[in-house]
Amino acid sequence: MKCPNCAQENKDSAKACKKCGRDLAMPPAWFPDWRWHMRTLSVIYAVVIVMYLVTSVLLRQLPEPYHIRKIPPEVTPWLKR
Ligand SMILES: [Zn+2]
Repeated sequence: MKCPNCAQENKDSAKACKKCGRDLAMPPAWFPDWRWHMRTLSVIYAVVIVMYLVTSVLLRQLPEPYHIRKIPPEVTPWLKR
């Protein structure tokens, strides 16, 4: 039985690694590889891009004058420029 931490050969009956002391009864911990990172990052980027596109389409459908992105100064005369 190989130690999942240091690859030291141990007896099958051993409860802990004789070299590093790792508990051999525990299953090896899962670590994400680069494929998992690529998949997760692409899902996150896809969701962000879709949300941006949907939001911009929805904002463009607002009625007047709320569709204006840059407010003209005559609409807000209390703001001195
Ligand atoms: Zn070990």
